[in-house]
Amino acid sequence: MSRIASVLLPMPLPEAFDYAEPEGMELAVGDQVAAPLGPRLLRGVVVALREAAGGNRPLKAIESKLDSPPLPPGAIEFVQWAARYSVDAPGQPLAIAIRGARAPKAKPEKVIEVTGVQPGRSTPARLKVLEAAAGQRLSPADLARAAGVSAGVIKGLVDEGALALTLIEADTRFDAPDLARKGHELNPSQAAAAAALVAMVGEGGFNVALLDGVTGSGKTEVYLEAVAAALARDPVAQVLVMLPEIALTQAVIARFVERFGVMPAEWHSDIAPPMRRKVWDAVATGGCRIVIGARSALFLPFAKLGLIVVDEEHDGSYKQDEGFIYQARDLSVARGKIEGAGVILASATPSLESLRNAEIGRYRWLKLTSRHGVARLPEITLIDLKDTPPETGRWLSPPLVKAMIETLAAGEQTLLFLNRRGYAPLVLCKACGERMTSPDTDSWLVEHRYSNRLVCHLTGFSMPKPDKCPHCGAQDSLTSIGPGVERVEEEARMLFPQARVAVFSSDTVWDAKEARRLVDSMAEGEIDILVATQAAAKGHNFPKLTLVGVVDADLGLRGGDLRASERTYQLLAQATGRAGRRDRPGRALLQTYAPEHAVMQALKAQDRDAFVEAEMAEREIMKLPPFGRLGAIVVSGPDAQALEAFVRLMAEAAPNADGVEVYGPADAPLSLIRGRRRKRFLIRADRTVDLSAYLATWRARIRPPGAIRVSIDVDPYSFL
Ligand code: ADP
Repeated sequence: MSRIASVLLPMPLPEAFDYAEPEGMELAVGDQVAAPLGPRLLRGVVVALREAAGGNRPLKAIESKLDSPPLPPGAIEFVQWAARYSVDAPGQPLAIAIRGARAPKAKPEKVIEVTGVQPGRSTPARLKVLEAAAGQRLSPADLARAAGVSAGVIKGLVDEGALALTLIEADTRFDAPDLARKGHELNPSQAAAAAALVAMVGEGGFNVALLDGVTGSGKTEVYLEAVAAALARDPVAQVLVMLPEIALTQAVIARFVERFGVMPAEWHSDIAPPMRRKVWDAVATGGCRIVIGARSALFLPFAKLGLIVVDEEHDGSYKQDEGFIYQARDLSVARGKIEGAGVILASATPSLESLRNAEIGRYRWLKLTSRHGVARLPEITLIDLKDTPPETGRWLSPPLVKAMIETLAAGEQTLLFLNRRGYAPLVLCKACGERMTSPDTDSWLVEHRYSNRLVCHLTGFSMPKPDKCPHCGAQDSLTSIGPGVERVEEEARMLFPQARVAVFSSDTVWDAKEARRLVDSMAEGEIDILVATQAAAKGHNFPKLTLVGVVDADLGLRGGDLRASERTYQLLAQATGRAGRRDRPGRALLQTYAPEHAVMQALKAQDRDAFVEAEMAEREIMKLPPFGRLGAIVVSGPDAQALEAFVRLMAEAAPNADGVEVYGPADAPLSLIRGRRRKRFLIRADRTVDLSAYLATWRARIRPPGAIRVSIDVDPYSFL
């Protein structure tokens, strides 16, 4: 009897499609196949197989089984779970999960081998080549270099049969970690935390621990021990370590190389396709035991996942806000549960969600309260910009400049932190007051001086900076308002012409290599003043960095959303936490107009617990996360009236449920993007409510007309 295969396709389709299994194909669940959809052939994954009952209408047949490792059961279950949780089509997370499988394989490599055949005549150059080629396989170019000869010499030897050119398949495995190596000697509190984590790993199965340690306490050293234990406990177990920034990935990889003597697999947007494919295949077949990556690494097809570490777990970049919307930290706990793996969430400033789970005993809570060795937490001073403002047109106040002078004189480094890319966040016309905005989008254009362009950070639109106002035509009337990192750099160069100044933002650091270069040169002391956005403000260890200046500490508070205070506290605690991480004491100066704000006071007093307690109390009263749950629905469309009519219908269709409140529809704060108007609903639910099911029910009741899009965000972090 023939069988029917349910195949999940990486498309926004509501469910898997049925296909007939061709005679003799012998499919299994997890297999990757080519299946027809309309006129196209798509790569899909078999998620179920059943015997065909007679009498059904004939199904289209699967075209072929693909030569790729199957998706392991845990990965399939995770994809389906994530889709249900996020109220999205399962094909969306599947597309992320099989992205690596779709990348082209590395081409076979050409290498030269010695055949033993004597060449017709022996010249010194030829002898050098034969000597260099003996016992190893080098590419023709490498061999020419090693022997110091031209390519022609090698070609001659190949032509005469003394050397043979062979193609070898690229290596598909990663070197096994050396578990006999020891880590650094741990201090007593690190040792206690490490022992607890090792014990958790030793128990096996699903468990979550929150590794809550101040900046510089050595959390990486501690979780490295848990990683070693997980790898040692089961010879095929795999470990995933997630990090929020590519720049940080580079630094942590170096520590893994030091600890385990091998290069772990790396996974993020900047990995070249053949390497992506190598990692994917190796992860699926057990040929790779350690993966260090960004949030999408959570969707890799681990054959046997033993431990997940989410470093800097509070970080906002774990949330993906576009396409398939998910929060990788939260999903890591779900994946751990599905795989029966341990999960370690590490941070100096954990999210309130994780702290709450630790408080009620759902997570084990391990604390490191002091820095390792002689390093002390930096002294934090608030600079009230009302009392000591910078000079007109400048952004660094006199007390901060004075501290920079002292730091430079001592041969130490300064980090100026400003979480804003570009030169100026706003450009306006002095003559008519016109603000330069993005076309069809409710957003200002940001001036970038390196490229001399005005850029929309929301849509990517950019244009050369005009020399007259496009509105009134006045010549040279466009003025830059406010600072971005480029402008602070300009000021730092002007104040300290002899200092070595660099900028670290996603505009100056565009790939992993550049990130590593800049991080290394900062660590080597080749930079005196680093002006950085959050891309460089977390995780790093710069031994000679003793001063952190926060240019605009109030920046993150202005949006005023649910997490504004929490996020600002986390970001500034991380940024200031870069100072004084070795033997030299550090200090941090925060420029603010609101020194009395609870966030500033908590930072100054280094009293995180009091801040968390106050913030928790407020959230508890409002029944907001972590005491309640939130969902957001953004509805967008090109036509304002049609949109308005549709959101009204939608509001009427909202299911009634106990413990759920629906707010809206209201104009979204960003009410126009790329010509599409946007409306929002906000849904608050008690923790006992299955919010995903509620939202799915709601969505099933309405059918948006063609031009209107409905996007659901469970546990939203962005309220724009
Ligand atoms: P965290 O992640 O908690 O901010 P790290 O793990 O990056 O801290 O450690 C901070 C610095 O202290 C690093 O340079 C690290 O190598 C060093 N360090 C921490 N613990 C030890 C230890 N037990 N022995 C030697 N160096 C340590």
